[in-house]
Amino acid sequence: MAVQPASSDGQHRVVIVGAGFGGLFAARRLSGAPVQVTVVDRTTHHLFQPLLYQVATGILSEGHVAPTTREVLRRQRNARVVLGEVVDVDLDARTVTSRVLDQETLLGYDSLIVATGSSQSYFGHDEFAVHAPGLKSIDDALEVRGRILGAFEMAEIETDPQRREAWLTFALIGAGPTGVEMAGQIAELSRQSLCGEYRNFDPAQARILLVDGAPRILPAFDEALSQRAAEHLRGMGVEIQTGAMVVGVDADGIEIQDGDGQRRRVAAMTKVWSAGVQASGLGRLLAEHSGAELARHGQVQVMPDCTLPGHPEVFVVGDLMALDGLPGLAEVAMQSGLHAASEIRHRLDGDTTPRRFAYRDLGTLAAISRYYAIGERGRVHLWGLPGWLIWLAVHLVFLTGFKSRVGALFYWTASFFGRLRYERTITLQQVLARRALETAPQSAPHMDAPPA
Ligand SMILES: Cc1cc2nc3c(=O)[nH]c(=O)nc-3n(C[C@H](O)[C@H](O)[C@H](O)COP(=O)(O)OP(=O)(O)OC[C@H]3O[C@@H](n4cnc5c(N)ncnc54)[C@H](O)[C@@H]3O)c2cc1C
Repeated sequence: MAVQPASSDGQHRVVIVGAGFGGLFAARRLSGAPVQVTVVDRTTHHLFQPLLYQVATGILSEGHVAPTTREVLRRQRNARVVLGEVVDVDLDARTVTSRVLDQETLLGYDSLIVATGSSQSYFGHDEFAVHAPGLKSIDDALEVRGRILGAFEMAEIETDPQRREAWLTFALIGAGPTGVEMAGQIAELSRQSLCGEYRNFDPAQARILLVDGAPRILPAFDEALSQRAAEHLRGMGVEIQTGAMVVGVDADGIEIQDGDGQRRRVAAMTKVWSAGVQASGLGRLLAEHSGAELARHGQVQVMPDCTLPGHPEVFVVGDLMALDGLPGLAEVAMQSGLHAASEIRHRLDGDTTPRRFAYRDLGTLAAISRYYAIGERGRVHLWGLPGWLIWLAVHLVFLTGFKSRVGALFYWTASFFGRLRYERTITLQQVLARRALETAPQSAPHMDAPPA
């Protein structure tokens, strides 16, 4: 095990676990502070998750939405980046253990910020994951891209009309923002971008199903906005099936249970799961070690200042934190990360009075298609082109790094005005890996898997 040395100059050591929105914003707020910041993450990048669906549908490249953390923090002299999956936190010894392959690293801390986010929940049916990937990582987005574009290739060489129909059926399970955005983008891809490229079928025949057990799509939005989004999607050719629970998923399709209890099967080779979330497994670990309570989706119930009960030196922020029913949103993660870092700065200045985390709601947006988004901030509702322009501006401002912004703007111009998709490359390896995965026996559970 590699033991990272304690700060040689006696500086306060801040370890931040997770380089997502919460972790990165906390690290940046500590820029220039008399502390030594270590950001440890199991990936090498900071991921802008809200645009993953554009990577999955060929609009953006992975580089646009996932700049390397090392590059993002290169000018922050008091910060360093360590690759590793954190597998243990010793709250008494104040150490964090991370692992990559067989290399273990032990990091000592004076303050700890845990921002490890959440992963997909299959509601106790983890066996669905192999057939219906979620959209939480770059790996997921590239796999989904391979599945979608690979399905059109398979439809071109398929001679059985029923199987071709199954290759051309795309099931989006879960009608929150991710499912809705994916449905809109697959509709645009099939009706516009792929037009005229195949000889044995018309890609516009593709059937796009958006399925959810809830009575309406986008339940977090106002009902009138959700209805507008549904009408717009229907106009694009998306079939919306609400009040319909997906109760089975296999390599060739899904089984749906309708409100009347009747079950039916839909042949669909491509499935994407965005129906539920589960907080990172580190939440469970912290709860076991500290006695903190866990909320419904495994988030850690924190004190009003975002600290772990009984451990004022440990902050839990972002999707992993349960506080005042705040939703799992990027803005909540950023603001709570900033709050944790500010608290550390205040303490170093000698002010030890804990401050309550006060979330400022800046509103939520969901892009349904090009030129059409919905947005809500308090009583102000936006839809259509005005909503889309705000969506565009917000995403440009928040995308991390100048290079990503310029690149994304260029690619968006090509996609939104020219209907082009520059990122349509898929590899045979992805197709083969998918086959191997779908037929292989279940592998050992991942750390983030919910407890049996
Ligand atoms: C597809 C999608 C679309 C979304 N769209 C929107 C949107 O439009 N608007 C919005 O506000 N929010 C959106 N969200 C939610 C938003 O992205 C999250 O709320 C936000 O990313 C949470 O930030 P976080 O820092 O808590 O976690 P994350 O951003 O998930 O970051 C967690 C980090 O921790 C790392 N990590 C996890 N476990 C470990 C471990 N054991 N050891 C080391 N590192 C670890 C991960 O690699 C990751 O880098 C979306 C999410 C998804 C998945």
